[in-house]
Amino acid sequence: MGLLEGRKGIIFGVANEKSIAWAIAQKLHKEGAELAFTFAGEALEKRVRPLADSLGAKLILQCDVTKDDQIQSVFEQVQSSFGYLDILVHAIAFANKEDLKTDFLSTSRDGFRLAHDVSAYSLTALARQAAPLMQGRPGSILTLTYYGAEKVVPRYNVMGVAKAALEASVRYLAADLGPKGIRVNAISAGPIRTLASAGISGFMEMLHYVEAKAPLRRNVTAEEVAGTALYLASDLSSGVTGEVIYVDAGYNIMGM
Ligand code: NAD
Repeated sequence: MGLLEGRKGIIFGVANEKSIAWAIAQKLHKEGAELAFTFAGEALEKRVRPLADSLGAKLILQCDVTKDDQIQSVFEQVQSSFGYLDILVHAIAFANKEDLKTDFLSTSRDGFRLAHDVSAYSLTALARQAAPLMQGRPGSILTLTYYGAEKVVPRYNVMGVAKAALEASVRYLAADLGPKGIRVNAISAGPIRTLASAGISGFMEMLHYVEAKAPLRRNVTAEEVAGTALYLASDLSSGVTGEVIYVDAGYNIMGM
């Protein structure tokens, strides 16, 4: 029997087959979870639908996380179709391209607001809707973050500041939801080539740097991130909440 037999989950953040969320979805599905999927906008639907269909998903819903009405509608449909929820995967981030090019100092008010709304606040907005559906279940909420939340990574800029807010949100949400038995954790993944990472200028340089300096002397794969997501989504991590777990070939431990 799979680790997630009888569990129901929702995946936010699949854009295409390279998405970390897609690797996670495949891993959770293999262990028996029934999954719902969302896509950010109509343009992405044609990419997400066939992937979700291939895992037998019944719910494939539009959800731009800056729109409260869309978030509410998604959870209403999850409630009527699933009845309850065990797993929520938040793998969403966005910043204007021009804010990931030069320095942090140039970040505009609008760019700052947008990056924080999509990449950090959305976790709280989704968790608030998910919590009632997780009542009495072994609920697990997980998100994706990056080392640029803690240390300066050139050109990661406003996204690093948003990820710092996201990591702090994980701790506050874990404290709020812990008494209900719902766990909230983050995975800090090393750089992986995806649609989102293509927007960071100098991203190839980041990959080469990690390969040269990380203890494992290589980059990580989305499948390796998915392995830790399975651990966090399942009872294997039943005593773990409020944590940021690194899947980065050990890069974060290096001082020099
Ligand atoms: P991706 O482009 O496949 O996924 C990003 C997702 O965010 C997309 O599905 C996109 O549709 C969604 N999104 C953006 N704006 C949205 C909105 N307004 N409403 C709803 N969805 C929206 O790239 P990815 O690398 O798989 O990113 C997933 C997560 O992993 C992100 O949080 C990212 O910061 C994080 N992460 C990525 C890396 C990496 O190197 N790829 C490293 C560490 C953390």
